[in-house]
Amino acid sequence: IVSVRDLRISFGTGKNQREVVHGVNLDVFPGESVAIVGESGSGKSTTATAIIDLLPGTGQVTGGSIMFGGRDLTRVTRSEREQVRGSQIGFVPQDPMSNLNPVWSVGFQVKETIRANGLAKGRKEVHDLAVDVLKKAGLADAERRMHQFPHQFSGGMRQRALIGIGLAADPQLLIADEPTSALDVTVQRVILDHLSERIREQGTSMLFITHDLGLAADRADRIIVMSKGEIVESGPSRTILEKPQHPYTQRLVAAAP
Ligand code: ATP
Ligand code: MG
Repeated sequence: IVSVRDLRISFGTGKNQREVVHGVNLDVFPGESVAIVGESGSGKSTTATAIIDLLPGTGQVTGGSIMFGGRDLTRVTRSEREQVRGSQIGFVPQDPMSNLNPVWSVGFQVKETIRANGLAKGRKEVHDLAVDVLKKAGLADAERRMHQFPHQFSGGMRQRALIGIGLAADPQLLIADEPTSALDVTVQRVILDHLSERIREQGTSMLFITHDLGLAADRADRIIVMSKGEIVESGPSRTILEKPQHPYTQRLVAAAP
């Protein structure tokens, strides 16, 4: 569903420009779930945010291609990219606080996503779908929580709300950057179960980033290992776990519980 070739990403401008992702190749096939693991600063978030055109700060793609739906997303117009991002690729960001608007109720933000993507019409339909989406993301008491603001949510709830927003548009591909980092371990599993169910039911493909190799092995068909801005190893989850080739992966496997 998405095909990334020789992707290069830099931060900074002029003399201070520094490449942080050095020619990454990756594919996610329809209905497939792929995990990216790797140490802090290895370029996981940068790679993921480049796909949905949300690189922070001075980040820019300096080479390569991102094929999605027959088009190279690095070459289409800004409005085409925004359209793809809204309706075809959902995104659950790493940092829940900076990605929810503090002055809008959580329910309003979910409803905006639903309206913007034309998923429901009419006040009641939009409202009902929003409640449904938040429930599916694992937010108990969604009906009441709708009216609350992000600061009234715990970290875990904020992340669940973001998962709801990411899924609201019923995307073909969901990119989740450590969707569960702010959550405790049991909640992590529950949420990934929800996501896995969506994938099975609706054929959604998923690219998710995690530090947890065990979780990746459990939930992903394939694992991609990044180190220092490069993919050092990739393959079926079992193969990675049982026969890690790269020293970094071997250390990860040895450290996994
Ligand atoms: P983590 O596991 O900690 O989330 P990561 O693998 O997601 O790490 P990235 O956030 O992709 O790592 O960062 C890759 C490199 O890009 C790092 O060297 C980081 O310093 C740099 N970088 C990331 N964001 C920015 C930014 N906004 N401005 C400048 N450099 C950045
Ligand atoms: Mg990251």
